[in-house]
Amino acid sequence: MSSPLAAVLGNGLGPKGAEPPEPPELLELCGACRQRLSPQREPRLLPCLHSVCRQCLGAAPGAAGSDGQAFDCPVCHQQCPLGDIMENFFLQDSGASSGQLVPCPQSCTSCEDNAAATSFCLECAEPLCDTCVEAHQRVRYTRDHTVRALGESLSPPVTPCVPGPCPGPCPSHPSEQLALFCSACDALTCRACHLGSHRDHPSQPLEDAVRQQRSVLSALLQRLGDKHAALQRSTRELRAGLRRAADVQKRLQVEVKMAVLQVMKELNRRGRALLGDAQRVSDARQQRLQCQHRALSRAQRQQEHVLRFTTRALDSPHGAALLLSRRLIHSQLLRALRVTVEPLEPQGDLKFQWDRLAWTRSAESFG
Ligand SMILES: [Zn+2]
Ligand SMILES: [Zn+2]
Ligand SMILES: [Zn+2]
Ligand SMILES: [Zn+2]
Ligand SMILES: [Zn+2]
Ligand SMILES: [Zn+2]
Repeated sequence: MSSPLAAVLGNGLGPKGAEPPEPPELLELCGACRQRLSPQREPRLLPCLHSVCRQCLGAAPGAAGSDGQAFDCPVCHQQCPLGDIMENFFLQDSGASSGQLVPCPQSCTSCEDNAAATSFCLECAEPLCDTCVEAHQRVRYTRDHTVRALGESLSPPVTPCVPGPCPGPCPSHPSEQLALFCSACDALTCRACHLGSHRDHPSQPLEDAVRQQRSVLSALLQRLGDKHAALQRSTRELRAGLRRAADVQKRLQVEVKMAVLQVMKELNRRGRALLGDAQRVSDARQQRLQCQHRALSRAQRQQEHVLRFTTRALDSPHGAALLLSRRLIHSQLLRALRVTVEPLEPQGDLKFQWDRLAWTRSAESFG
């Protein structure tokens, strides 16, 4: 049987998934002690389809559930009511290699000829031979019974009943084989059961019931497989979306950083230009001041010289010398008096001005 689930489960969730996938061999291990579930461990199947060995189930303290005792599944932690836990029939001693068709001879139970059964009456829950089918259709009481031919592939006299082991004789009626399935009780039954405790219960030949359940479960499995594939697609898309979001974030970071760098570069250039301008202006001003300073110093020295000389000349007892050099002294005094001291031209200090608020505002609206 092709299983779409097996195909899609192969991929797993991948290393970035939220939870690691369950190992497939878990189906054959006890969920609690992780021992291989041999038939001797009496494996039990939980409603969540995980299995534990009987010992582990017994050792677990029963937790109080909604309806009495419940078992906490050691794998998925579903609360499993103890009443819903059953034997894991899949892992029971098969006696034959599993999957193999074990032939189950079926003979008509309606007559004493032990002839091979070719059909099955659903109402009587009896395999019938060709002769008995004819008789069945002649008799008024059984004329309306639903008689179905046993499958072509399961042609008598040797009828493969179910893949796997033959269920064996009925525990209540050891002379009868467990060849029927009571769908009301979900139990393997024999012909005698349907005359007794399962009277009026719907019954099916075992192989029909198996075939029907196979097709029902296969259809469900197919649907779940499709759904799982869709879920995987969504997960993949989500992961791609996550990656894209991370990429976008990285790219944005780079872009903003580049823009900030660009702005800083421009500001630095402007700052250097401003510093250059300020340097040039203040250099020129200093030069002018130094020139002025030199001129004033010269004039001051000249005045001091004339002052000193004239004072000495006036204090000198040589009146004749004073008279003879009076022209020179006079002209030097007049010249010194003519020198005007230029007042210091008022010059405001250089100032750096910028609109701090405007810059803050444009920085806030940057980008
Ligand atoms: Zn165990
Ligand atoms: Zn579970
Ligand atoms: Zn017969
Ligand atoms: Zn019948
Ligand atoms: Zn029985
Ligand atoms: Zn029944």
